Amino acid sequence: MMQQKKPSTQQLLQEIESLRREVEQLQREKADLQILLETATADTGAAVRQLYESNKQLQAEVAAAIALRHCESATQQAKLAEVQSLLAKAATEKADLEILLETTIAHADTVEQVLHSQNIRDPLTGLFNRRYMDQFLRRELRHAQRLCQPLGLILLDIDHFKRFNDTFGHLAGDAVLREMGRLLQAHQSSSDIACRYGGEELVLIVPATSLKETAARAEQVRQAVKLLNLEHYRQPLGGITISLGVACFPDHGQSSAALIRAADAALYRAKALGRDRLVTADSLKPL
Ligand code: GH3
Ligand code: MG
Ligand code: MG
Repeated sequence: MMQQKKPSTQQLLQEIESLRREVEQLQREKADLQILLETATADTGAAVRQLYESNKQLQAEVAAAIALRHCESATQQAKLAEVQSLLAKAATEKADLEILLETTIAHADTVEQVLHSQNIRDPLTGLFNRRYMDQFLRRELRHAQRLCQPLGLILLDIDHFKRFNDTFGHLAGDAVLREMGRLLQAHQSSSDIACRYGGEELVLIVPATSLKETAARAEQVRQAVKLLNLEHYRQPLGGITISLGVACFPDHGQSSAALIRAADAALYRAKALGRDRLVTADSLKPL
């Protein structure tokens, strides 16, 4: 009988990495579903709450398994098996949530209305809305704290947008915001999210990422915005620029409010220094 060839350490590591990405993707999809469920099932019974709780627990287990990657004492084989089994569990739980969501939607008359009014995305840009951002950020900060990982936050604001609206009209301004939404979505990786913080201010939350890497991501976005060829009904709109403030957990804030404040202060400094640039919270000297 032919013996099966053992996978090399490199292959195992690659497989663990790809499984880890799948788990993260599933977690994100589940997080969306959870928020929809929270809204949809605010008044329903214990079964829903029970599933929600077990799902939260599962998320914690998946997070712990991913953390195992850093534990040198565990063998690669054992880690792979663990992540694989958690992946299977996560997929089942996600399928359960989908069924539950479908059932809830099919049976509750008011659900569609509620979902519509409290959607998790901003209709103009297609980005996540502020409400979702708050929940995501709080959850990711708890996660980062548990795993002793950094988390980056980029706050960006379109330069002289009022002038742009005044010159080309509010609808052209809306078209720019839509374009910015597309650009940010194209720049987000599987674990991070782009949100409309308000008006023409947008946020990119980058879990498990250091200040240096987050600043590099922010710089890529800044350059990509400068390259946009904007038009509205075939009318060229000229170029736009953005200013960005970058902050990182835990260095610049432990809570979501403190982190946003730090990024906002950096953004304010970027504006004061002449716009079209990024400033990190690290470089803010106390006055
Ligand atoms: P700065 O470089 O200092 O950020 O200047 P600014 O003109 O961008 O900033 P300001 O805060 O003075 O103006 C923001 C403008 O953004 C004013 C508002 O009309 C516009 N704005 C906010 N939300 C929307 C929107 O949904 N659509 C459009 N078209 N404009 C918006
Ligand atoms: Mg602005
Ligand atoms: Mg603004």
